[in-house]
Amino acid sequence: MPADPSALAAAAAALRARQLVAFPTETVYGLGARASEPLAVRQIFAAKGRPVDHPLIVHLAEASEVEAWVDRGRLPDGGATLDALAAHFWPGPLTLVVPRASGVPDEVTGGMDTVGLRVPAHPLARALIAAAGGGLAAPSANRFGRVSPTTAAHVRAELGPDLLIVDGGPCEVGVESTILDLCDPAGPALLRPGGLSAEALVEALAARGRPPTPLPTGARRAPGALAAHYAPRTALRLAADPDAEAAPLRAAGQRVATLRSGGDLAGYAQRLYAELRALDLAGVDLLIAELAPELGLGAAINDRLRRAAFGSSGSSGSSGS
Ligand code: AMP
Ligand code: MG
Repeated sequence: MPADPSALAAAAAALRARQLVAFPTETVYGLGARASEPLAVRQIFAAKGRPVDHPLIVHLAEASEVEAWVDRGRLPDGGATLDALAAHFWPGPLTLVVPRASGVPDEVTGGMDTVGLRVPAHPLARALIAAAGGGLAAPSANRFGRVSPTTAAHVRAELGPDLLIVDGGPCEVGVESTILDLCDPAGPALLRPGGLSAEALVEALAARGRPPTPLPTGARRAPGALAAHYAPRTALRLAADPDAEAAPLRAAGQRVATLRSGGDLAGYAQRLYAELRALDLAGVDLLIAELAPELGLGAAINDRLRRAAFGSSGSSGSSGS
């Protein structure tokens, strides 16, 4: 159910009083605090059980608000690429990592000299950010390492009954934002695949004179981008054809659930986390999820599936538990 104006006003008042509020974005639900308030931001790490050196993304209502957060003088091109990508892709699932302005709290940046910025494409998110007075630091609203929430009910299940949640219905994109680092003089680097395809970024950058080659990924690791993440509790295995893989296991008496793309990558991304959650509660021995073609949204889907399966007993072929 969309939140009504009084619910938004109450949520904004809570944020101004340095409390946490969960809110919808087009990617996943975020757990927000005012990014200018270190004491409020610290509560995010406590609520999630998240290591404090993992930086948070600052969510803005308008692209013009970047000025308070970025130190343009330390961008290789003075911010021309930042402005072009913001104009092209915001609001949307793209986070841009830039040198931080003085005064951006260490709590937000994990102590680094850079900050991740994004204008989300959800009207409730932007209304809340504006009403709260700008700049909400918000990671996904789940316990650290667990599957990201794409509905208010998921947030409730992760973080408990006392948290204030703005309910905007199911998230449209379903996987986290794409993260692009703009700080390197050698050019932009992809730190995390996500809801905006790398191909779309390459095309936009090519229009500005960059060769249309794939974006480098290794220039600077995104802190917090761990090999094991987004994990269901049930053993998870990845396969090109989950049902073929499941057939002999089922014949041998194992309870196996499968997750398939149905040939629709946007739909697969949108329901991926909800289905992992639901299947996790179904009490099966093993989940087998379909790997997507490594293109567009498929790259983000596969990235999340691999992290979710990393270290899972499902990958070794055992029944797991
Ligand atoms: P999430 O956990 O989905 O909220 O996304 C936060 C992630 O964004 C972090 O774990 C980092 O991978 C990335 N991130 C945020 N800020 C920065 C930054 N300043 N430099 C590099 N990566 C960042
Ligand atoms: Mg997260």
